[in-house]
Amino acid sequence: MRKKLILVVIDGLTPEVFEDAVETESAPALAFLARHGSYRRGVSTFPSLTPVCLSSIATGAHPDVHRLPHLVWWHRGERRLVEYGSSFAAIRAAGMRRSIVDTIFNMNEQHLGRDAVTVFEALEEAGLTTGAVNITCYRGRTPHLPVVPGLTRPAYGPKEFFFYSLFESEVTGAPVGVFGRSSGSIDAYAGYVGRWLVTRDGFDLLVYYLPDYDFASHALGPGANQEALARSDAAVGALIEAAGGADEFLERYAVIVCSDHGQTSVERAVSLQAPLAGTEGVLVTASNRAGMVYRLPECREDTAELARRLDGTAAAEVVLYREGAEAVARRQGEELRFAPGDGDWLTSGDRSLLDQPDALERAWAALANPNAGELLVSPPLGVELTDLAGRSHLGGGSHGSLEAGDSTVPILTVGLEARTEVRRIVDLAPLALEHFGVKLPAYADAA
Ligand SMILES: [Zn+2]
Repeated sequence: MRKKLILVVIDGLTPEVFEDAVETESAPALAFLARHGSYRRGVSTFPSLTPVCLSSIATGAHPDVHRLPHLVWWHRGERRLVEYGSSFAAIRAAGMRRSIVDTIFNMNEQHLGRDAVTVFEALEEAGLTTGAVNITCYRGRTPHLPVVPGLTRPAYGPKEFFFYSLFESEVTGAPVGVFGRSSGSIDAYAGYVGRWLVTRDGFDLLVYYLPDYDFASHALGPGANQEALARSDAAVGALIEAAGGADEFLERYAVIVCSDHGQTSVERAVSLQAPLAGTEGVLVTASNRAGMVYRLPECREDTAELARRLDGTAAAEVVLYREGAEAVARRQGEELRFAPGDGDWLTSGDRSLLDQPDALERAWAALANPNAGELLVSPPLGVELTDLAGRSHLGGGSHGSLEAGDSTVPILTVGLEARTEVRRIVDLAPLALEHFGVKLPAYADAA
């Protein structure tokens, strides 16, 4: 009998915090799972920002396939900004109603690439039942109407679909979770729904996304929020209890615990717009620790010139762009050119310029996303790029860059046999499909 599978994503949880919590047993549910599983540090995608990373987790693809480029980006077809929620002020600046519709509906219905296959789509196609709690990449085939009276636009998700008290495929009695973020209301909502689903044993795969840890880390800085971790741990513990205890839980379920990206401290907030100010036809989208520069049709400067103008600025540690069949990385005035070769990268220049985890692979995939800007910017450690409204997490934590601290995640697998090595967040969806004996999408099979 194949076990059912629960994929737990604790947003922004760093490997250091996870390892410490397990060692000291300060997170009892995670420590219990770690005792029965196998653990390694893994690598995220780039930009290491939540909508991008959760799409990678749910599809097993980097942004070249799933096409979500950033938290905020320029939609070339519709000639407008898409802002998924860098900050409340940024949402207001981009247009409140439009941002809400983009985040709730369009991200999955329109922005998520057609060639990407979510775990929900793949497993339900094979006749299994999947469930999603709060994960932003939820695309499935079942229409769900909002539970808010008067709203009639459906979202297409998995059969069991729970999304921030807005979509609920079952009446669970869960309290509305969208107020009280700083005290962990969203994870408490997830805990309630998760308990309900496990009690009824109503799924083959459940993706259980817990965002409140990241929210606390942004405010307090990475590693400084034991309370938030305790609440995320309690939301995992709720599932174990609902199964009737530890042994029953492990008998029934295989488990993956991971995060989507890391976090690093913010000591300085910098504008990526400033060094390019006054240049006609240049549009900057920046938020957290990643930025993009779009060349609009009226721009007269070429991409390489724009990249050179960011040399030595506080905003840019690495600037990436495409030139013909190659990608170019500029770092402190030096250049590395690279392209995928047969089994390894073809490079010219000093390869150690891109020494961050899986940097060539991640940079290449980010640049190959048709929704990405012509330039991609990864700032130095300690620097955050201000958003549309000039906001930042100065004094707290952030993520988004190629740097190891933003890009390294804990990955714990319990009760799973893997054919291939599991060391990146894009390996998790293929691992889940393999577990159920379901064929991988071509992009994941070739990887
Ligand atoms: Zn975050």
